[in-house]
Amino acid sequence: MKSVTNANAVEIRGVHKSFGALSVLKGIDLSIGSGEVVCVIGPSGSGKSTLLRCVNLLEEPEAGQIFVGGVEITDPDVDIDAQRRRIGMVFQQFNLFPHLTVTENLTLPQRRVLGRAPDEAARVAVENLERVGLAAKSKSYPAQLSGGQQQRVAIARALAMNPELMLFDEPTSALDPELVGDVLAVMRMLAREGMTMMVVTHEMSFAREVADRVVFMDGGVIVEQGPGAQVIGNPTQERTRTFLSRVL
Ligand code: ADP
Ligand code: MG
Repeated sequence: MKSVTNANAVEIRGVHKSFGALSVLKGIDLSIGSGEVVCVIGPSGSGKSTLLRCVNLLEEPEAGQIFVGGVEITDPDVDIDAQRRRIGMVFQQFNLFPHLTVTENLTLPQRRVLGRAPDEAARVAVENLERVGLAAKSKSYPAQLSGGQQQRVAIARALAMNPELMLFDEPTSALDPELVGDVLAVMRMLAREGMTMMVVTHEMSFAREVADRVVFMDGGVIVEQGPGAQVIGNPTQERTRTFLSRVL
């Protein structure tokens, strides 16, 4: 039986996650509306990646519930592959298939996971490479592209699966500074188009400008959240101020 909640794109309730004796998420509650962009900021080790990985079922919380589009994905009876298919994830390390061309990187998952016919998968691939400005690189291999281009291919690959929700885990942290802007521009476009996004980032200006809401995590809890101008510009919590004084 699948439980259904309201129309929230993501609803995280009381999520706890430990690795052995290490308690990493200590009761996370977070709702994300459809089309909302939420940026998660916080120090290294605060549990940001673990939280994203729980939303994509790469980690299993030991307590709490997560709903995506009203479906409880933490329900033990749920088909994990079917749920993951609804969610796109982009990692710091682009994780492209090195032995496949750019186009093949986009068509393979569509064919394998969604069962799309080759011509349909190719059409969707071109469409999404155009969106990220890389149609001209369709026949290149990942190693022939800059880091920024590889990350844009990874975003296009996720988009080609028509996700309801996109998760980004520090998508620009592995990039040379001059390549960060092109990737952020693609993410801005997605935000404008109304994609629901949960973005772990250290790019404070991006968080401030693009996020509908900024969530500050520390020590496995959400310390404060609100509009970027408030959380980054005028935080109420001492821990947030301390973190920001280190990164700004
Ligand atoms: P962040 O993304 O905020 O830097 P993480 O969620 O990656 O933090 O990690 C939070 C804590 O959990 C860290 O102490 C990290 O070492 C630990 N951790 C993360 N994944 C694992 C794992 N698979 N096994 C053991 N410890 C882990
Ligand atoms: Mg992380």
